[in-house]
Amino acid sequence: MPDSSVPTSAQAPAAAKTITDRLVEANREYAVTFKDGGMDARPVQKVAVVACMDARLDLFAALGLELGDSHIIRNAGGVVTDDTIRSLTISQRALGTSSVVLIHHTGCGLLGLTEDFRHELELEVGQRPQWAVEAFVDLDGDVRQSMQRVRTSPFLPHTDDVRGFVFDVHTGLLREIH
Ligand SMILES: [Zn+2]
Repeated sequence: MPDSSVPTSAQAPAAAKTITDRLVEANREYAVTFKDGGMDARPVQKVAVVACMDARLDLFAALGLELGDSHIIRNAGGVVTDDTIRSLTISQRALGTSSVVLIHHTGCGLLGLTEDFRHELELEVGQRPQWAVEAFVDLDGDVRQSMQRVRTSPFLPHTDDVRGFVFDVHTGLLREIH
């Protein structure tokens, strides 16, 4: 605790704040000017974007998306897991989307990891994870694999408009994978 006789400096309270405290503060400011757009839960552009969780990838800015336009499904690598299919199924069947955009990116943290990661984890904690790491060495190939998983899913009624891209974290450009 700071000495109460010392005037509180600008740094003292900030040092005690966690990142989550800062996020909550930012939210209070956000809510001051927030306007309810009156949108419902169905994405206006009828699209679901599946992308890596990478911190350098600002999907709204990079794709010109507005609030309410799109579902955004993110995970490590932007890979199409069972849980991604779960979200896409709800997106299409309950919330009216019909297009899917998949985005991987250069410099991904999953590039260079291998399934050894799972083995090492098991050795360390004594429990084998149920999930696959979904690491890859071939970026383009993994985008194709992901597109294939979406296109062949029996749960998805809309698989005609499924496109995959690699986002370049240095240029900000998307490169389409065919
Ligand atoms: Zn990534």
